[in-house]
Amino acid sequence: MTELLERLTRGDRRALSRAITLIESTRADHRERAISLLSRLPPRQALRVGLSGTPGVGKSTFIETFGMMLTEQGLKVAVLAVDPSSARSGGSILGDKTRMETLSRNPMAFIRPTPSSAQLGGVARRTRETIRLCEAAGYDVVLIETVGVGQSETLVAEMSDLFTLLLAPAGGDELQGVKRGIMEMADLILVNKADGDLLATARRTVADYAGALRLLRKRSQDPEGFPKALAVSAATGTGLESAWSEMQALTGWRREHGHFDANRAAQARHWFMAELRAGLLARLDEPDIKAELKRLGDEVAAGGMAPGAAAARMLDRLRNTPS
Ligand code: GDP
Repeated sequence: MTELLERLTRGDRRALSRAITLIESTRADHRERAISLLSRLPPRQALRVGLSGTPGVGKSTFIETFGMMLTEQGLKVAVLAVDPSSARSGGSILGDKTRMETLSRNPMAFIRPTPSSAQLGGVARRTRETIRLCEAAGYDVVLIETVGVGQSETLVAEMSDLFTLLLAPAGGDELQGVKRGIMEMADLILVNKADGDLLATARRTVADYAGALRLLRKRSQDPEGFPKALAVSAATGTGLESAWSEMQALTGWRREHGHFDANRAAQARHWFMAELRAGLLARLDEPDIKAELKRLGDEVAAGGMAPGAAAARMLDRLRNTPS
């Protein structure tokens, strides 16, 4: 364990992979070792950037070009994915190395695909803990990719310092059906494919979103002008330097005003409660408890006991049974 930690903090990629495999394991003894490893990590910080967008908008192209740009500036980049499709189908559409071929061969970059057949809750934990491992291994920027489906965007926003929404150029004022809640989470909206025939449409789309963002309430932790909409082309690289400058400007401002640390503290508190809830729920799957639950459920269904009374009995039982 000490050797793994030592190699990990030296930036050894094999050690990083091994540590991730350890935190992904569901075996109780592995979990214990994972918790011990996580509690011994040095307090290094990376910039955690969440990136969301529907399939086809250009996420992998963006990560490839943006990631290469960052590594050329001497920054180490890790790419992780939170993929709800892998929970449903066992197949993953994100974090696939073949989607980011150049970056995956880059020694300054580390790409970890989503494990298949994991539940979204489990994926959230493993991603959060993998972020910590990547930080300990000396990565400067951790990109956390997700598709614009269901709750995955909220999960990613809750583990990121910055949340970026990638959108396609589109006409009309329907704003591509982007939900208000998602808009409110975004720090930066990047309208991709601002090149060739799509350039004019992309610029118009940026203006539309800039207008929509101005209508949202300004957040007290943000400087003037944020959240912001920009045009980029992941294919040509145009606008990616500006996107990075904006990310740095916003992060710098938040650090200076204490919002960066306050946000991380609030996130840590949130994840503590989430872990606790998950742990309590997991107790209901213990064989003895499950049997008792079934018995009480039958009694409630038969009208022999009130639901509230049965729940109170179950909570008593949980209190008095060590896990
Ligand atoms: P993802 O599903 O969000 O990861 O999207 P991809 O990165 O796989 O891109 C989907 C398609 O859009 C591919 O055919 C890309 O070549 C294309 N694409 C991605 N970025 C750009 C861009 O900046 N400009 C143009 N014209 N096409 C792009």
